[in-house]
Amino acid sequence: MKSSGKCPKCHGENILVFENKNKNSKKSTADYEVIGAFGKQIFTSRYVCCDCGYTERYFDDESLEKLKKKYKKIRG
Ligand SMILES: [Zn+2]
Repeated sequence: MKSSGKCPKCHGENILVFENKNKNSKKSTADYEVIGAFGKQIFTSRYVCCDCGYTERYFDDESLEKLKKKYKKIRG
């Protein structure tokens, strides 16, 4: 969805993105998760299909790096 611009469920192409661009703004529409081990917000961008309502959420690159340091992978 993020790379294809298409909904994986209904194949619709009316995709909205709520990007995490300004983490520090109180007006930011970014989604976030509070992950216990960090005690702070980890931000995500959300993709929404306007045809069927399906949504996907992605952690941003900076948050992924933090997560990779903190948590174990299933493999490797
Ligand atoms: Zn859809």
